[in-house]
Amino acid sequence: MSDQCIFCEILRGNSPASFTYEDDTVVAFGHMLVVPRDHAVLMADLNETVAMRTFRVARKLASVARSTLGAGGVNLFVADGEIAFQDVPHFHVHVIPRYPNDGFGLTFPERYSQPPGRAELETIAAAIRAANP
Ligand SMILES: [Zn+2]
Repeated sequence: MSDQCIFCEILRGNSPASFTYEDDTVVAFGHMLVVPRDHAVLMADLNETVAMRTFRVARKLASVARSTLGAGGVNLFVADGEIAFQDVPHFHVHVIPRYPNDGFGLTFPERYSQPPGRAELETIAAAIRAANP
């Protein structure tokens, strides 16, 4: 745990939260954030078992959002790094219940609809394969 982290403060019981799920590895609170008990800033900083547990719980809560909250759909959102809009430096998965006309939206830059050419895509794909993910 980190002394500076609001999620670790919640996990220590020093800050209030409305918990929706708890187990030995993961908690969820609010509407809804799924948070591993281990403090890690980025997804890659978590051990794989903890990361997978976080996504398993997000999957379950997405189902509960439909059955219990009446959501018509759900977005899972991960902000992995400050440039990707990570607001709390403790990895978490947003489970966002969605309703008609709820005000959420996605904005893509114009170039997103104009992907690179085949040769450049293959160069990028080869580099990713070589990294052996
Ligand atoms: Zn933390």
